[in-house]
Amino acid sequence: MKLLEERIKRDGIVLDHDVLKVNSFLNHQIDPQLMLQIGDEFAAAFEEDQVTKIVTVESSGIAPALMAGLALNVPVVFARKHKSLTLVDHLYTADVYSYTKKVTNTISVDQKFLTAADRILIIDDFLANGQAVTGLLDIAKQVGCEVAGVGIVIEKTYQQGAQLIKDAGIKLVSLARIDSLADHQVHFAPED
Ligand code: 5GP
Repeated sequence: MKLLEERIKRDGIVLDHDVLKVNSFLNHQIDPQLMLQIGDEFAAAFEEDQVTKIVTVESSGIAPALMAGLALNVPVVFARKHKSLTLVDHLYTADVYSYTKKVTNTISVDQKFLTAADRILIIDDFLANGQAVTGLLDIAKQVGCEVAGVGIVIEKTYQQGAQLIKDAGIKLVSLARIDSLADHQVHFAPED
């Protein structure tokens, strides 16, 4: 997605440890116009896939997932990282190791929001080693629902997440694909 690549080039900051900081439009401050277009791109990519629900993880997945849900006209469920008085039991849970925070969170989804009749589209902001997506696939397995695909805003192709998803035979669509962050520069993958 050209517009997204241009925005990453303009505003992305490469931190050490292979982390791209995009908190001026995606991870902290959010650009609603860009998110709207991201939602439209995901909707175009998955319009034939009979998606009934979008599933993401809080918090950075919510903005692109919501816009994809708007464009596909389906509800959006976000897995929560913390229990609360309103989220106690009847949960699907999975453990997810966070690439950026270096801690393991147990993510939870209330059982009433996913059923075996669903065909879910998993959306997330970044794909690195695939831990977040694997956690959501684990939840999908517990639910017994089908996975229509995975939509990622920014994929880092040199980490193993994409291969995991492809090996599982799941459709993967990434709107920007980064081959390397060498020399603190963003190097995009050539178009397929
Ligand atoms: P994974 O679970 O695929 O290893 O990592 C994906 C998650 O880690 C994303 O949900 C995102 O929050 C975070 N993440 C991974 N790599 C990056 C990165 O380069 N920049 C930012 N801002 N977040 C990242």
